[in-house]
Amino acid sequence: MEYAFFEGKFVPIEEANINIKTNSFHYGTAIFEGLRAYWNEKQEQLYILFAQEHYERLLRNARALFMELPYTVKELVDITRELLIKNNIRQDVYIRPIVYFKDLALTPKLIGYTPELAMYTYNFGRYLDTSEGIKVKVSSWRRNDDNSIPSRWKVAGAYVNSALAKTEALMAGYDEAILLNSQGYVSEGSGENIFLIRDGKAITPSYNEHILEGITRRAVISLLRNDLVVKVEERAVARSELYVADEIFLTGTAAEVTPVIEVDNRKVGTGKIGEVTKQLQELYFNAVRGNIERYRSWLTPVYEK
Ligand code: PMP
Repeated sequence: MEYAFFEGKFVPIEEANINIKTNSFHYGTAIFEGLRAYWNEKQEQLYILFAQEHYERLLRNARALFMELPYTVKELVDITRELLIKNNIRQDVYIRPIVYFKDLALTPKLIGYTPELAMYTYNFGRYLDTSEGIKVKVSSWRRNDDNSIPSRWKVAGAYVNSALAKTEALMAGYDEAILLNSQGYVSEGSGENIFLIRDGKAITPSYNEHILEGITRRAVISLLRNDLVVKVEERAVARSELYVADEIFLTGTAAEVTPVIEVDNRKVGTGKIGEVTKQLQELYFNAVRGNIERYRSWLTPVYEK
């Protein structure tokens, strides 16, 4: 039996349904997260990646929308562990918690409503092709501005912006979209942060460039600086820099570390996965699966040993 967490308890997934009058369904006023858990076959252990960081972000973002949840970070991690155990997950899995206003009311506002938490597990597999690399298109859609719908938060409604850009890219034969912000600088992919490698240095748009404050982005910056000894600059990135980069890759919980081999029909570097990207991928995939002792702090084991 597959379970979800819904309205304060674990229920069979078929019973985890919302009413069509649900306020947040109409206005996109929901905050969600995406987590991954990785199965380590040798250790017979399932590890939730960055559980603490995802739930801190969820609670902070929710509070910004006046959604006060009756759960602490620790309780949210415990609910996640229990859900994974109930669903007997023994493979890689994606976890989707979402906070929304459950009220059956028709005014788009954030006060006077009751926030609710739901959570379920999902077999995502690879989100983008991490082994061959992907082709991206600079979108004609601009990233939603921090002063309209803050891109720094994972607000459900903001993903209309991502859906428009992703669809345009897919229909034009590309794998993913890169959005510029309202100032015309590079912000991020439809569901990933972006990094460029130029002359041995890594460059990524700063938090001021209308990006999501990515958890993978932060981890990758630390891997680049501490393990690969690559300098990292966080700054505004011009569109034209994409076309002259030696390497480009995208980062995200779903996307992990995805190499970009083509931007707007121009090869990135040699058109093959670059050296830094390759080394970073190897490090990242080993760390998230619990194979690197010093990165065990990233992980929450699910099963008691
Ligand atoms: N940007 C956007 C727009 C996203 O949806 C995501 C996925 N959450 C990311 C970046 C990457 O964030 P994270 O590394 O925290 O998953």
